[in-house]
Amino acid sequence: MENSAPIIPSTPSLELHTLEDSSDVTASTLPIRNLYMESYGCQMNLADSEVVVSILRPHGFAVTTSYEQADLIFINTCAIRDKAEQTVRKRLSQFNQIKRHKPDLIIGVLGCMAERLKQQLLEEEKLVDIVAGPDAYRDLPRLVATVDGGHRAINTFLSREETYADISPMRLNSNGVTAFISIMRGCDNMCSFCVVPFTRGRERSRDPYSIVREAREVFEQGYREVTLLGQNVDSYKWSPTKPSTTKVANGHSAFPVLNQVDSQVVEIQQARVDVQEIINFAQLLAQVAQIHPDLRVRFSTSHPKDITNEVLHTMKAHDNICKYIHLPVQSGNSRILQLMNRTYDREWYLQKVRDIRNIVGPSCGISSDMIAGFCTETEEDHQDTLSLMDEVQYDFSYMFYYSERPGTLAARKYADDVPLVVKKTRLQEIIDKQRQHSLASNLKDIGQTYQVLIEGPSKKSNDYWQGRTNTNKVVVFKNQGCAKGKYVNVHIKTCTSATLLGDICD
Ligand code: SAM
Ligand code: SF4
Repeated sequence: MENSAPIIPSTPSLELHTLEDSSDVTASTLPIRNLYMESYGCQMNLADSEVVVSILRPHGFAVTTSYEQADLIFINTCAIRDKAEQTVRKRLSQFNQIKRHKPDLIIGVLGCMAERLKQQLLEEEKLVDIVAGPDAYRDLPRLVATVDGGHRAINTFLSREETYADISPMRLNSNGVTAFISIMRGCDNMCSFCVVPFTRGRERSRDPYSIVREAREVFEQGYREVTLLGQNVDSYKWSPTKPSTTKVANGHSAFPVLNQVDSQVVEIQQARVDVQEIINFAQLLAQVAQIHPDLRVRFSTSHPKDITNEVLHTMKAHDNICKYIHLPVQSGNSRILQLMNRTYDREWYLQKVRDIRNIVGPSCGISSDMIAGFCTETEEDHQDTLSLMDEVQYDFSYMFYYSERPGTLAARKYADDVPLVVKKTRLQEIIDKQRQHSLASNLKDIGQTYQVLIEGPSKKSNDYWQGRTNTNKVVVFKNQGCAKGKYVNVHIKTCTSATLLGDICD
C-alpha cells in the first residue's frame, strides 16, 4: 500500500537518557547526535524505519522531527515506480543544499532505491554519504563511523536470513493505537513488472515467537490493533531448521502454548528440527489473535494464488481478526495476468472472492491494486479490468499506471508499448469506477451501527474524531469525550466515497 507523503516521527527530539534502552554502555559516553528520518513507499518501509531508529539509538542517536537540526538525515526509499525515485532525488537535492552550509551533515539513502542503484548514488550522482539496502541496517553504526572517518560507505548485501526478529522497533509517527509488525521479508514471486524481488531479496519468514512477543508487548503498551506485514503473507512459513535461541512460554517448544497470555516467558534452546513445528500463516494469525480479544489483528498483503481456505476459516473463527482482505488483482484479463506472471487467471481470482464471501461472510471488506496500461494491453483487455471491478465491487483500491522498472522480466522481455496518454486515460477510468463502487458500498452502511476503534482526532477538526470499522472503513464522528484506543459503537448517518460519518450511540 502506498503512502507517498514523508512519514515524520511524531515525537519531538528525544534526549537519549530519556529512552528506555540504556543497556549499551557506549550511549553514555557518546555525544548525542540528531537523526532525522523520512520514509516513502509501503508500510513495510515505515516498519523498517522503526527498526533503523532502534538500531541507532544505543549508538548516540536521538530522533528529531526537524531536518534543520539533524546531524544525520536518512531517507528510506521506494523503487516501485519511477515517480517514487524522482521524488526521493528531489528531496536529496534539497538536503544537499543544507549540507553546503553544514558540511558535517551526513545524508544516507536506505531501502529499495539504495539497493537498486547501489554505487550510482554515491559515486556518479554524489548525492549521499551512505547507501544501505534493506538487509544492511544492523551495519548502520559502522557505516556512520566510516563516514565520520572521512569516507563514503555502502552496504547493499542481501541476506537469506535477516528478519530483524530480535529488534524491538521504536514506533515512529504513531497514534499509540495501531502498530505494524513485519512477519517476513523479501519476495520469491517474480511478477514481471515488479522490482521488489531485486531490491528486497529472497523471501524469509520471521520466527513466530518474536512476532507474538512483539504483538503482546504493543498490546500491553496500550495499542489495540496490529497489522502483520509481508509482501505475500499467505506464504509465511517458519520452521526451526537451525538450533536457535528463542523465547517461548513455560519452557515448551511447541508453538501453541504461546496463546497463554499470562504464562511466564522463559528462554530455552530450540535444538531439534521437527516437521510438526512448521508454522503457517493461518496458525500464526490464530496465535496473534489469541493474545487478547481486545487486540484487533489485520494483515497485508495477500496473494490470490496463496491465500488458503484455512486462513479464511481462521478469520471467521476469531472475532478480533478484522474481516478485511487486501487482495491485489493487478488486471482483469487472463492474458495480461499471464504476462505479468501472476500465476492465476481471472476465473481463479473470482473464485477466491467467492470463497472469501462464502467462508468469511458476504460483508468482508475486499480491496485491490490495479495497474493500467501494462505491456500489450488492448482496449478490450482494459475493459476486462473494469468488468472484473464490477463483479467484485471492491471497497477501495490502490491504482497505478504501469511504470517500467529496469532489470525486471517485463523490461527485458516486453515492449512498454501503451502510450502514456492511453495509460493515464485508462487509469482515470479505473479510478472513476472505483469511486462509484466505494460510494455504493458506503451508502449501504447508512443506518447501520458499527464497532469502531478510535484512532484520534479527524484530519479536519479536533471536534471530530476518527477510527475504523473491522472492515477497514474510516468513520468520523463527533468528539463526545472520546479516548484513543477505545471501542465505540457508531451509528452511520451519511457518507462520502472515502468516509462514513455518524454518531456514537452508547
Ligand atoms: N506484494 C504485493 C502484491 O503482490 O500484491 C504488492 C507489492 S507492490 C509494493 C504494491 C503495488 O505496486 C503492486 O500491487 C502493484 O499494483 C504496484 N506496482 C508494482 N510494480 C509496479 C510497476 N512497475 N508499475 C506500476 N505499478 C506497480
Ligand atoms: Fe512484487 Fe509480485 Fe512480490 Fe508483490 S508478489 S512484491 S507484486 S513480485
